[in-house]
Amino acid sequence: MDIGFIGLGKMGLPMASRLIAAGHRLVVFDQRREAVDALVTRGAQAATSPKDVADRVENVFASLPSLQASLEVATGDHGVIHGARVKRFIDLSTIGSQMAVRIHGLLAKRNIVAIDSPVSGGIAGAEKGTLAVMVSGPRADFDLLKPALDVIGKVFFIGEQPGAAQTMKLANNYLSATAIVATSEAVVMGVKAGLDPAVMIDVFNAGSGLNTASRDKFPKSVLPRTFDFGFATGLMVKDVRLCLDEARSLGLSLEIAEAVGKLWETVIAEMGAESDFTAAIQPIEQRAGVVVGKTNAG
Ligand code: NAD
Repeated sequence: MDIGFIGLGKMGLPMASRLIAAGHRLVVFDQRREAVDALVTRGAQAATSPKDVADRVENVFASLPSLQASLEVATGDHGVIHGARVKRFIDLSTIGSQMAVRIHGLLAKRNIVAIDSPVSGGIAGAEKGTLAVMVSGPRADFDLLKPALDVIGKVFFIGEQPGAAQTMKLANNYLSATAIVATSEAVVMGVKAGLDPAVMIDVFNAGSGLNTASRDKFPKSVLPRTFDFGFATGLMVKDVRLCLDEARSLGLSLEIAEAVGKLWETVIAEMGAESDFTAAIQPIEQRAGVVVGKTNAG
């Protein structure tokens, strides 16, 4: 299949690389020239703008870091909306259902179908092709795209309603965001009481405390204090804020989500948007007066 791919960052680069390796012909664009060059060496063709991509292929995928970037790429002056060949815009980014519905409405005026396709599973999942791929859009378009989506992960059809897959993704990331800060609090409490954090993580993972933070993030990036898992705090806070907006727009007040959101606002204020999200433990450590990791494990 001829595929356009816009946004070749931490997630986009490995997803686009897998599509090339699976035999698809890619036309790629990113604001960063070096990201485009990296894909061209793997066999992709370079484009000069989102419109240029959309002039050349029917299916344009995007993996972008903000709501504004998705809106701009899809509907801006040099956006996909002005492309001559494009029929579908498949957004792999997390943008929330309200922005997804807005983009859907704008593209529909030009007979371009917007497909929501946010993903979960991190850089490792993007590299291995094991992401959870949540899709909403017209069923016939989904069926047409499924062979390409299968290359990047396990594909779930969420529904035809625009934005439905975004709601699914926000619910997922709310749990992921909660796991990190809740596990950080539990480990900090143990370390304050003199427990070994590495033993604590082993116990969680053998017991009912098991979660994605204890299973993946603590062993790889928190206990070794490398804080390099590959997802920016700014992106995590974007998702938590979107989840809270989503809940409020449904007339809900989610007590745990509100508390988790407050803690992540502290993390972004103290650690910065560019920090890795595993650094969320540091403000919790500071308040407790402990440092978790090798220091304590000996
Ligand atoms: P990233 O910042 O690493 O990559 C974004 C890329 O988009 C960059 O290469 C940037 O140059 C490019 N870009 C930004 N604005 C652009 C524009 N206007 N035109 C063209 N290119 C533009 O971000 P990421 O971590 O790859 O995340 C991408 C999306 O995937 C986000 O919505 C994020 O929430 C979601 N996501 C990320 C992860 C993860 O673990 N990193 C996991 C699941 C979902």
